[in-house]
Amino acid sequence: MTIRHALRGTILRFHDNPFFTPAADAMHIEPDGLVVIADGHIETVGNYDDLRPNLDANISIADYRGCLIGPGFIDAHVHYPQLSVIASYGEQLLTWLERYVFPEERRFHDENYSAEIARKFLNELLRAGTTTAAVYCTVHPQSVEAFFRESAHRNTRMIAGKVLMDRNAPDDLRDTAQRGYDESRHLIDRWHRNGRQFYAVTPRFAPTSTEEQLTLAGALLDTAPDLFMQTHLLENRQEEAWVRQLFPARKGYLDVYDHANLVRPRSIFGHAVHVSEHDLGHCHDKGCTFAHCPTSNLFLGSGNFRLFDALRAERPVHVALGTDVGAGDTLSLLRVANEAYKIAQSTGHSLHPAQAYWLATTGGAQALHIDHLVGKIAPGMEADLCVLDPAATPILAQRTANAESYNDILFALMILGDERSVRATYVNGRKIDF
Ligand SMILES: [Zn+2]
Repeated sequence: MTIRHALRGTILRFHDNPFFTPAADAMHIEPDGLVVIADGHIETVGNYDDLRPNLDANISIADYRGCLIGPGFIDAHVHYPQLSVIASYGEQLLTWLERYVFPEERRFHDENYSAEIARKFLNELLRAGTTTAAVYCTVHPQSVEAFFRESAHRNTRMIAGKVLMDRNAPDDLRDTAQRGYDESRHLIDRWHRNGRQFYAVTPRFAPTSTEEQLTLAGALLDTAPDLFMQTHLLENRQEEAWVRQLFPARKGYLDVYDHANLVRPRSIFGHAVHVSEHDLGHCHDKGCTFAHCPTSNLFLGSGNFRLFDALRAERPVHVALGTDVGAGDTLSLLRVANEAYKIAQSTGHSLHPAQAYWLATTGGAQALHIDHLVGKIAPGMEADLCVLDPAATPILAQRTANAESYNDILFALMILGDERSVRATYVNGRKIDF
């Protein structure tokens, strides 16, 4: 027997991409809406008064009037093993990795520790309203096992993979090209498309992989349908110079990955701060995706990603938002949207709230090629939802009390909001307790 339940509140949906149609028109707002959920999926969505008479008189309806109901947030770049080194002082990318990240990642040799951090990470992610993330584990296969087990337990739709590093990392954090391939292959068999889990082949970044390892990573992508690839690209200037030194035969950083057949749809490149016009054109042609991580870029002083350049209408590149914890200082995509707004301002563009909200939800799902599953409130979609409360804190309540439009409310949420603004998170139709 099908069990139905429903949510009532203001529903936000996109019928167009707000970067390519006037942003204020791209979003459809149902002020008094109803989302009906059956068996973990969205069955119907629309106006409350239209839908209510057709439903069973006893159906359970969660009342979120005054709140905004939208898709769960999508975080396209995050490292769960770095949860404990978030907010680490004083370094830029390469020395920050050496000083804080590598010592912590060693601890994931222990599967129990991995499981403990995976649990805490997933709880914090859901508290922030994020229901899907592309997640780096560590070089240890047990860190991946632990993560997917915890995700499967909650039935969250996650993308994750084992980090590949066969050079320029401490001895106990290195695999070899062949071992990295074999361990990844085994994890793909166990977890890729197992329930709601997807596997991502995960070379950390070019400096910590030999050409042989990158080539095998490219080969891995052809061993199963719909595999993801995630890595870092052009985050910081020293990193870029190091890659040129390590791969003198390649034309540039992106070419290192391209040569290994890693630049393709479902490939997610974290940062891409220092991309050239040639890189942007090439990434458009190849259909790969950038994860824009403004909190991380500011925290490490890496530079400013040119969002509006990447999305130029004549050759747009797919872009999603990423928190990049632990270099990012928050798991809240509202706070990431806040910093994305400021970075866009510094490059002469105003990021409209509908555009930011699009990147964090529907656009993020499109960029990851999972928009047939999540990222939209529409019949047949998986019911991963985030309910935002525009009066969650006194200052938000003050600011939104006289808001002139829903876009204005959304802007206040993206500038003043964080985990506290998330009234409820639903995973596959089930409300999460946090
Ligand atoms: Zn990262």
